[in-house]
Amino acid sequence: MRNLLQTTATRAIDYLEGLDTRSVAPTAEAIARLDRFDEPLPDHLTDPETVLQLLDEIGSPATIGMAGARFFGFVIGGSLPAALAANWLASAWDQNSALYRVTPGTARLEQIALGWLLDVLHLPATAGGAFVSGATAANFTALAAARHTVLSRAGWDVEGQGLFGAPPITVVIGAEAHPTLFKALGLLGLGRQRVIKIPVDHQGRMRPEALPPLAGPTIICAQAGNINTGAFDPIREVSAYARQIGAWLHVDGAFGLWALATPSLAHLTRGLERADSWATDAHKWLNVPYDSGLAFVREAEALRAAMAVAADYLPTVTAQRNPSDYTPELSRRGRGVEVWAALRSLGRSGLADLIERNCCYAQRFAEGFDAAGYEVLNDVVLNQVLVSFGDAATTNRVIADIQADGTCWAGGTVWQGQTAMRISVSSWATTGADVERSLEVMLRIAAKQTKPVQVRAASAV
Ligand SMILES: *Cc1c(COP(=O)(O)O)cnc(C)c1O
Repeated sequence: MRNLLQTTATRAIDYLEGLDTRSVAPTAEAIARLDRFDEPLPDHLTDPETVLQLLDEIGSPATIGMAGARFFGFVIGGSLPAALAANWLASAWDQNSALYRVTPGTARLEQIALGWLLDVLHLPATAGGAFVSGATAANFTALAAARHTVLSRAGWDVEGQGLFGAPPITVVIGAEAHPTLFKALGLLGLGRQRVIKIPVDHQGRMRPEALPPLAGPTIICAQAGNINTGAFDPIREVSAYARQIGAWLHVDGAFGLWALATPSLAHLTRGLERADSWATDAHKWLNVPYDSGLAFVREAEALRAAMAVAADYLPTVTAQRNPSDYTPELSRRGRGVEVWAALRSLGRSGLADLIERNCCYAQRFAEGFDAAGYEVLNDVVLNQVLVSFGDAATTNRVIADIQADGTCWAGGTVWQGQTAMRISVSSWATTGADVERSLEVMLRIAAKQTKPVQVRAASAV
């Protein structure tokens, strides 16, 4: 075991150190070599060293450099050193982190991490929280608490009776909500399509004047951080409306919620603390390994009512927090350990710095494109930049060439009808030098495909 784990650690270190010099996207040869995994299941034992050698030699080159400094796709952070190392140690512990009495170490670390999260995000200290697999699961979990509460106020026990015969719930959602929120609504029996969609502005923000007069059980889903533009819904207006009609306000802040940890972004986050529930991802801007999402619910009891489980064989009785009373899962890895390690190593100022730094780099990208005559489609308020290199075909060619070059990686999107390259700066590992190097390559590749023209003035008319 010792040799195996030591050589594996060395392999992992070599992998991470190699990221700076290899192509961010895996090469076609590396992908072709994956065929070597495609063999019949062996009949007999193989020694673990051989298994790991195969995994590293074939598997590692076929990965995309998401852990590196110049991956700007989706909204994907790397793993902070403390978080990665904590993940290794916690994997060695192999704790089934459902119940405090069985796994007090991981349960207590999660309880402490939850307290720190509520503190650093300025959310109510008594809120309940769940360590789940991602923002999809966090939205699902928080909305289950919402469903519980709005129906319980209408005299209905949804956990006991389900939705058959229940008073209808109205769901209000921005037209630019993330697709996984619709999925969460579908899983909860609230329907992906049975929603009132609020029209949005040119940044994807809900238009508060379009919120309809409503009564009865209502759940409003707002967004902190649009996946394309980074824009925040006007939370103050939406929360005032929610209060007025007695609705539950949920906020999907998969990456944007982390802006709450950064005083310089307070203009975006004002009013966020007034919501009833919040979903975010630790595997995005807190830079812990996948899978790590977080659900917070103002009334901890509502979350507990939706999620708690009991059985004679489970030692659930304790004065301490049982993780499984707050999560959809029973058996579960102690993913809060990495959250604890990330927060313990960054501290309050380290977290604010990480987020602020990424936002500055996004500004720098936008300035660089603008100066070269390319149109930046969004107001760069956070860590997201949308840039167009001309028509859809040209922009897509530039994106493909940038990905093939391998210096950095960014994906494509269509924003309100316009094809764009989407840059998301979300990793602790990214430096100013990485941004300059990437920008230079992007502009060089774009110049080959396009004749830059100053389009910004024209589009402002
Ligand atoms: C990433 C994201 C999600 C989905 O998160 P997963 O962790 O992939 O489940 C939901 N909403 C928003 C706004 C996101 O950015």
